[in-house]
Amino acid sequence: MSVTGLVKLIRKLPQYEAWKRSVFLRDHFQCQQCGKRNGRKRVIEAHHLMELSTLVRMNGLGTVEDAISCLALWCPDNGHTLCHSCHEQTESYPKSFRKLKKEKKRKNG
Ligand SMILES: [Zn+2]
Repeated sequence: MSVTGLVKLIRKLPQYEAWKRSVFLRDHFQCQQCGKRNGRKRVIEAHHLMELSTLVRMNGLGTVEDAISCLALWCPDNGHTLCHSCHEQTESYPKSFRKLKKEKKRKNG
């Protein structure tokens, strides 16, 4: 399996949801960059300090089972709570997510 393929599967695991929750809880649902909290218009996200793809490569993970049993992957220390706009500015932010926002920003300013 390719690294990107495996990363996609990891993001769908219940363990991934649990990881995100523990990161949010530790950071009190507050963006660690600008201090904003989760709200109606502001969505918080869990940012990986070390990218999932890097972890997959470093630990030589090849299957979902490998990933589940890899403790480094599920360590809340590797996570950071960021709001959507701060998250977007990180280098590892997935480019496919970025596209969606551009369409909204088209208005003349
Ligand atoms: Zn923020």
